[in-house]
Amino acid sequence: MSKILIIEDEVELVKVLRSYLEKAGFQVLTALRGDDGLGLWKREKPDLVILDLNLPGLDGLDIAREIRKKSNSPIIMLTARVEEADQLVGLEIGADDYITKPFSPRVVVARVRALLRRAAPSPTSEVIRAQDIEIDLEAHLVTRHGETIDLTPTEFNILAAMASNPGRVFSRLQLLEIAQGVAYEGYERTIDAHIKNMRAKLESDPKNPRYIETVFGVGYRFGKE
Ligand code: CA
Repeated sequence: MSKILIIEDEVELVKVLRSYLEKAGFQVLTALRGDDGLGLWKREKPDLVILDLNLPGLDGLDIAREIRKKSNSPIIMLTARVEEADQLVGLEIGADDYITKPFSPRVVVARVRALLRRAAPSPTSEVIRAQDIEIDLEAHLVTRHGETIDLTPTEFNILAAMASNPGRVFSRLQLLEIAQGVAYEGYERTIDAHIKNMRAKLESDPKNPRYIETVFGVGYRFGKE
């Protein structure tokens, strides 16, 4: 049973999310304060974190950064305004998804399921080689010249899809579907955040990327050499 940690200070929202997630078969832990939430995360090592941005004690940004220092497990950020999500994207905190309030608890459950499914190891044993990058789909491992590149599960899935089809242009909506199993219009910008983080990890010059190229007005593609 997957363990989900909700860090959110709106008591009613926590109740509703807990009830939906428990009905969906998840074990749910909750914290109403940021500092308590981070402590709980350290003790319980949940499989996924639903994290509010504005929290008493310690804010969501600091918690996400702390988690990312130690773990690649999925983080869903909850924000009060669309503009906040945009700002967060620019900060490259490494969250896997952003959901703007108000939202339907069903959407949260669907995204939790999708992220956990994507985080699970793939059953194939295929290895993709593109340019000088090797992607082991079974081991969920990306290497270049034998050196491991540490990607989150979402980043891994995006890279694997793009690198299997070098030169093919992927729209943001397509990449969103690859990343999360489902594509929600209006959330395409989360892809830009993932791409930005991936470039920082992959490219020697992220401003002139040779792996993940921008196709203006359309999306992204993996470069052919
Ligand atoms: Ca809050």
